Amino acid sequence: MSNVEDKTLCALQEEGYIETNTDEFIKLIRPAQHFCKNCGRSAVSADNLCNPEKLD
Ligand SMILES: [Zn+2]
Repeated sequence: MSNVEDKTLCALQEEGYIETNTDEFIKLIRPAQHFCKNCGRSAVSADNLCNPEKLD
């Protein structure tokens, strides 16, 4: 695996990293409350995401 910490979330999303490494991606976006499994965006409210996943 390449060095994820040096990459932007934008680049990771383009590579499909969110689908293959969801848990690792979540670590990178903490303390976000929700993230989108389609777009990789994070948001305070799930209403702002098209495929939201709640982070506890
Ligand atoms: Zn989305």
